[in-house]
Amino acid sequence: MTIDGLDVTVTRKSIKNMYLRVRPADGRVEISAPMRMNERQIVDFVRGRRDWIARQRVRLTQLRDVREDPRMMWTDERRRQAAAVINAVLPGLIAEWGPIIGRTPTHVTLRVMTSRWGSCTPKTGRIRLNLQLGLMDPRFLESVLVHEMTHLWNTRGHGVEFQRRMDTYQPNWRQLRRELNQQPVMGRP
Ligand SMILES: [Zn+2]
Repeated sequence: MTIDGLDVTVTRKSIKNMYLRVRPADGRVEISAPMRMNERQIVDFVRGRRDWIARQRVRLTQLRDVREDPRMMWTDERRRQAAAVINAVLPGLIAEWGPIIGRTPTHVTLRVMTSRWGSCTPKTGRIRLNLQLGLMDPRFLESVLVHEMTHLWNTRGHGVEFQRRMDTYQPNWRQLRRELNQQPVMGRP
């Protein structure tokens, strides 16, 4: 079906909720809808997500550009360079933010990640950071670290408790997060 000029592929399934995805290969919008859901609801669902769909498509285009740009590919030299930068500043950042946040990681590991900037396992106190942060504006590394250290409080996802803490620790975190998520992600060679 076509919704406001947008081609949408609708597949009916025996599911409870409607799901929408933007196909990475070509940016096409695909909907999985419950058997009995009427078209009106599907149209409203897609309209309510127009901004999100547009953002996903911009991101997919950026990712394609990055893959086709050899300067945006990882090399051994870039890995070394990124790790050196992060390792040089990390102890200072943890020493600075530890007392503010009230939690410090047990381990921080660096790795090339293509779908996230960092992750955290509160149970073990382990934080993983995307190596690419070492090649970017330093405020991004700091903001991802603060974000993951806040997860050490074992807050549920990014809910109210998490947001309250982030607002206290780093009042401009939302703005930083938005900027960070607009940065192109380097591809694997
Ligand atoms: Zn998070």
